[in-house]
Amino acid sequence: MTPPESRSDVAIPASPCSDVLVIGAGPAGLCIAAALAAEGLQVAVLSDADPQAPWPNTYGIWGEEVDSLGLAHLLGHRWSHTVSYFGPGEADPGGPGNQPVLHGRDYGLFDKVRLQAHWLEQARRLGVRWHRGEAVGLAFEGERGAQEPAGVSVVTTAAGERLRARLVLDASGHRSALVQRPDEGPVAGQAAYGVVGRFTAAPVEPDQFVLMDFRCDHLSPEQRSEPPSFLYAMDLGEGRYFVEETSLALAPPLPFDTLRQRLELRLAHRGVAISAVEHEEFCLFPMNLPLPDRQQPLLAFGGAAAMVHPASGYLVGALLRRAPGLARAVAAACADGQASPATLAAAGWAGLWPQELRRKHALYQFGLDKLMRFPEARLRAFFATFFALPEPQWSGFLTNTLSVPQLLAAMLRLFALAPWEVRLGLLGLQGREAARLGRLLRP
Ligand SMILES: Cc1cc2nc3c(=O)[nH]c(=O)nc-3n(C[C@H](O)[C@H](O)[C@H](O)COP(=O)(O)OP(=O)(O)OC[C@H]3O[C@@H](n4cnc5c(N)ncnc54)[C@H](O)[C@@H]3O)c2cc1C
Repeated sequence: MTPPESRSDVAIPASPCSDVLVIGAGPAGLCIAAALAAEGLQVAVLSDADPQAPWPNTYGIWGEEVDSLGLAHLLGHRWSHTVSYFGPGEADPGGPGNQPVLHGRDYGLFDKVRLQAHWLEQARRLGVRWHRGEAVGLAFEGERGAQEPAGVSVVTTAAGERLRARLVLDASGHRSALVQRPDEGPVAGQAAYGVVGRFTAAPVEPDQFVLMDFRCDHLSPEQRSEPPSFLYAMDLGEGRYFVEETSLALAPPLPFDTLRQRLELRLAHRGVAISAVEHEEFCLFPMNLPLPDRQQPLLAFGGAAAMVHPASGYLVGALLRRAPGLARAVAAACADGQASPATLAAAGWAGLWPQELRRKHALYQFGLDKLMRFPEARLRAFFATFFALPEPQWSGFLTNTLSVPQLLAAMLRLFALAPWEVRLGLLGLQGREAARLGRLLRP
């Protein structure tokens, strides 16, 4: 069955009961729908937006990460000249406060149209069915009834439609209304304000990608005592650049007005002004959402399943790496025709969030809690030390590809290399930090 070409095509009726109903057709929804269908399951997707509508966000990924997935052809841009700045900045452009740290690793931006088409094409080829509507409720019926021996999940849409499936998988993003998770206090958000456009002078060097520019000599001492932010920027070619003032994470998040003002100050300090705005990005998403309750009778994936990396904010690499394993776990559980939605979901949660990943999630959250307390100079010193770690350690940390012992070794090495002011900031337990460490031992 072809993917929807227009609104009228979307209302294709589903079979009475799918194996899995995926809610949401963002990156997570399309990725997992294709992976589940590749396991031979009957998959339907319910989305309140046209699955072919362009996604609002821009998705970046490390080059080697996308290479290892065999998907480098889905990148729209790729940079080898990748740098960060952790000095304070200074008037002399060649001075020590302006020296870049060279990352020596490629960074890429997905061509998001190609990424979306990649998953839509797989879904089309594998017979995924499409429904248009907003999921507003979930119930269970037919428990051990004659027609549905194992019971089914029934999703109700805002329009009153009822869609039935053996398992519901929520990929509706971090604002999911159906997924249950514990309340662990305030959730920190990464906020960023960015502009794609043209500038009176180049905001970054030719062919350069800047992961983090923490220079702050454009700010007054009062501004420097406020929560820090950094520049994420890239040369898009042909005189176009993307510049984004970004905060690590904060609860409540830094306001967009503050970020916009800081971006303008930063650019003005380097003699740069925006001459044409092509696109403005207002980015806000949670960085330390608690892991979902693994006893609930539905499954989740992507932002809804707290899969955003608590240290880096990245998700797409994790979707691509973890979807096949999760799909296999769900397919194996579905092989038992008597399995209830709760049993299928439990098998899915075990596949998605095994103990090792839960331990790492606790460690990352612990680290983020620490960093959110760091004032500007200490944060710069922390990142200078972090990127001085051997490349496999810092890149494995950021891509979540280290084992728990490897992750602990990287953290201990960082502690050993760090200046005293950073070590002091890392010592002692405040707020939720003890609970985070407790979850490392008992995830
Ligand atoms: C501005 C921005 C930039 C980011 N940059 C990166 C990056 O560079 N790299 C990276 O890896 N990550 C990045 N992220 C983080 C993360 O990858 C994104 O948040 C990602 O879009 C989450 O994907 P998702 O599919 O889980 O959710 P979403 O993208 O939010 O998609 C959810 C979908 O579900 C639909 N939906 C919602 N509710 C319902 C409902 N009740 N019923 C039916 N449908 C529903 C929505 O319409 C939407 O289509 C960024 C996030 C933002 C906000």
